[in-house]
Amino acid sequence: MRRVSIFGATGSIGENTVDLISRAPEEYQVVALSGGRNVARLAEQAIALNAEIAVTCYSECKQELAARLSGTGIDVGAGPDAIAEAAERPADWVMSAIVGAAGLAPGLAALEQGATLALANKESLVCAGALLMETARAHGAQVLPVDSEHSAVAQALVGEDISAVERVIITASGGAFRDWPLEDLPKATPEQAAKHPNWDMGLRITVDSASMFNKSLELIETREFFGFDPSRIEVVVHPQSLIHALVGFNDGALMAHVGPPDMRHAIGYALHYPDRRHLPVERLDLVKIGRLDFREPCERRWPALRLAREVMRSGGVSGAAFNAAKEVALDAFLARQIRFTDMAAVVEEVLETMERDGALKCDRMRLDHVMETDHLARKRAAEVAELIA
Ligand code: NDP
Ligand code: MG
Repeated sequence: MRRVSIFGATGSIGENTVDLISRAPEEYQVVALSGGRNVARLAEQAIALNAEIAVTCYSECKQELAARLSGTGIDVGAGPDAIAEAAERPADWVMSAIVGAAGLAPGLAALEQGATLALANKESLVCAGALLMETARAHGAQVLPVDSEHSAVAQALVGEDISAVERVIITASGGAFRDWPLEDLPKATPEQAAKHPNWDMGLRITVDSASMFNKSLELIETREFFGFDPSRIEVVVHPQSLIHALVGFNDGALMAHVGPPDMRHAIGYALHYPDRRHLPVERLDLVKIGRLDFREPCERRWPALRLAREVMRSGGVSGAAFNAAKEVALDAFLARQIRFTDMAAVVEEVLETMERDGALKCDRMRLDHVMETDHLARKRAAEVAELIA
């Protein structure tokens, strides 16, 4: 039996992972499951999958989790340290599906014990890509992409010579405000931003899709994962969300990955890698689909894309500052303190002041420096958001 853990089990990616694993219970021994406030669901999953330990990231939720799991023999933990400790429990395959920079520590712990890390938590790569990849190498562990675009790129690269790659194109649906007049964007509400045209995902990534902060994280993720020069990575708006990414080779061929917008494909690919196995996703009817459209992303509508390019240019720990400032700006927008269009302004201001202070430079990335940068950027972003509000 394969030993598997799922961090962020109660979320959108987590539930899809639980769904796939539940279909073949005889193949998996579930080690650890983690969640946050949704303790009732976490306990239900832990019992159904007979997990060894269930952990909530909130210490105030521990009592309720313990009560729900009392008499089951399942261990209970609470708090960020308990999640990282649970990730140290030996496992063959670990799903990293916590949202935000909080996913970094458990991801590193999983790699340190040699597990294969299925990485949905793109924020870990944005904050500390060099550290994550170096940790994987040092422990002979593998990182597999779960983000649909990056899974698509990885699949298009199987058996290919990476030096023959000229460019990589990741697609973006354009999110909820793709067709809004630019002058209406400042009035956009969190409820409107939370409606994704094609994908059913967690709230934060859905709003990040409308602002394209998600795509900007994915630009950096593409660079960190595959090592391509930023000039070779392109973004194209593709409203149907059926092509997830394309890889262009030096003979002019473009290999496109086409599939339904269902994360169980990318999760299943990472779960069964290097094999392909039957997956319960829709089969596309190309005639019914009829057409596929592509547009250039406008940087006036989505300034986050420009900011991601600046982050890749400045390097160091600027990814950690970018992600942290973005998380704070997103919270402020969701709390209605700032407008939709203010999010990019907050992030840009934080990056500029930290760069001016020399706070984004580093020679060799260390976890404490990444966490310090994350902390400082959050503080600055909160101050900037307060000024704007
Ligand atoms: P959700 O918000 O649906 O789920 C997040 C999970 O993390 C939940 O289990 C939540 O617990 C838990 N959680 C929340 N905050 C913390 C914290 N501070 N510490 C530890 N755990 C926490 O997110 P998604 O599933 O949408 O996204 C998860 C990750 O996958 C993100 O990095 C996202 O960018 C990435 N991703 C998601 C895709 C999707 O289709 N959803 C596609 C590609 C990538 P609880 O809900 O119990 O509070
Ligand atoms: Mg994606």
